Amino acid sequence: MSFATLNLNPSILKAIADTGYTEPTPIQAQAIPEIIDGHDLMASAQTGSGKTAAFILPALNRLATPSAMPGKGPRVLVLTPTRELAQQVCDAATKYGKNMRFKIISILGGMPYPVQNRLLSSHVDILVATPGRLIDHLERGRIDFSRLEMLILDEADRMLDMGFVDDVERIAAATPNTRQTLLFSATLEGVVGNLASRLLKTPKRINVSAAKDKHENIEQRMMFADDVAHKNKMLSHLLTDTEVNQALVFTATKRDADGLADQLSAQGHSVAALHGDMSQRERNRTLLNMRNGNVRILVATDVAARGLDVRGISHVINFDLPKFAEDYVHRIGRTGRGGSSGIAISFASNRDAQLLKRIERYIEQSIKMHTIEGLEPKYKLRTGPSSDRPRSGAPRGGYAGNRGPSTGSGQAYGKRQDNFGNRSPSTGPGQARGAGYTDSRPARSEGFGGQARTGFAGQPPRDRSFGSRNGNTAAPRGDRQGFGAPRSERTDRGNFNGNRGNKA
Ligand code: AMP
Repeated sequence: MSFATLNLNPSILKAIADTGYTEPTPIQAQAIPEIIDGHDLMASAQTGSGKTAAFILPALNRLATPSAMPGKGPRVLVLTPTRELAQQVCDAATKYGKNMRFKIISILGGMPYPVQNRLLSSHVDILVATPGRLIDHLERGRIDFSRLEMLILDEADRMLDMGFVDDVERIAAATPNTRQTLLFSATLEGVVGNLASRLLKTPKRINVSAAKDKHENIEQRMMFADDVAHKNKMLSHLLTDTEVNQALVFTATKRDADGLADQLSAQGHSVAALHGDMSQRERNRTLLNMRNGNVRILVATDVAARGLDVRGISHVINFDLPKFAEDYVHRIGRTGRGGSSGIAISFASNRDAQLLKRIERYIEQSIKMHTIEGLEPKYKLRTGPSSDRPRSGAPRGGYAGNRGPSTGSGQAYGKRQDNFGNRSPSTGPGQARGAGYTDSRPARSEGFGGQARTGFAGQPPRDRSFGSRNGNTAAPRGDRQGFGAPRSERTDRGNFNGNRGNKA
């Protein structure tokens, strides 16, 4: 099948030809004709499947015909859960619509209101927004939806996970009843299905492939880690491999991302961190540096698990496993982009045994265990029916030291070589981070634009030690108080009410 059969405007077809795409992906081939026919649509498709073009191409196609309505409000509204995904949608629209005249703006959390007010008061064709910030503007009467023809919910499941369900419904209620509604989601069941039944009219349903069917081009490896010091050593070893073109390393928390990035920088790597505490400008600049190859290693939280599309990423390394099996699939999907192959390596320690089982159950395959010569684990992974919490007296992660000094020993923090200037408030020289700090907080949830993504209740405490600034090893295990984070670091924008608690 070729794009020419899809009834798209010639200027769009020309832009597609310039991208080098030879044929529509399955989601595009199935969704585009239904959307052009004017149907509402609920489609199950993963990131990496070409889903962005599946909705942006027909949206642009609509814009090729002038609006019958007076006014200057948006004709197409795309809601996304994260700023990164919103940016990807804007980039795609600009790429595929480069031969057309239209105005696209994004309204995202973390950006100044005055600029957004100005944008919203001018003529707009496509508005891409995260729900929380859009609601703010809606409540202030700054958005005119009278011309709106198409509402697109991208990664609806994620938006609901992040607690945006009321916002999404209120936004939808503010748009004309005559609109066409498209919903894209990893899953179409459960709460997503309920939302669809409220917002969509006799939708066509497309199910391209489930998450677990994806990523055949990605080799998945598991490496057992005795503790964090062992993880540090394995990571250092892996990153010296010349086969690693660019690597995306995931940590559980923002602080860990900063700490690990500093540590790798001190080892001479070209590295940057990416997480939700950074301003949008910093995040954009970091992504640009990653895209143009100025940065080889990106250490990130789950903020980068979806939407990040950098073709050079040859390796994804889960320094910490994600809390939810579904996020594992999204994380590893950051490599093997655009049909290339990729390698995903996950470190797991004994405390991760149950989580690992859940991930393997979700992806319906077991992940092959690998070891690095000379860095074999001392302990074996316990796969029995024990709980995530280690038995009392059993070793847990974070007891750096019994394998010798950790990789980062004696290295100074704050020598990031990424030319990004004053990032990371908590990692400058002289900061009282403490040697190999221990952190007992639950994994941080990432809030965007002031919105809460629910946190976790009932998870075991996390242990952390990223080597030391003065050659010491980790703090004693009992020392869970003095991790030295500034107040703002400890106060999550999300709530730890455990909505998603233990069910992943
Ligand atoms: P998405 O699923 O929207 O995140 O897209 C994943 C990647 O596939 C992006 O890098 C797109 O540029 C690329 N892509 C989208 N459509 C096609 C196509 N028809 N052929 C090849 N690559 C595509």
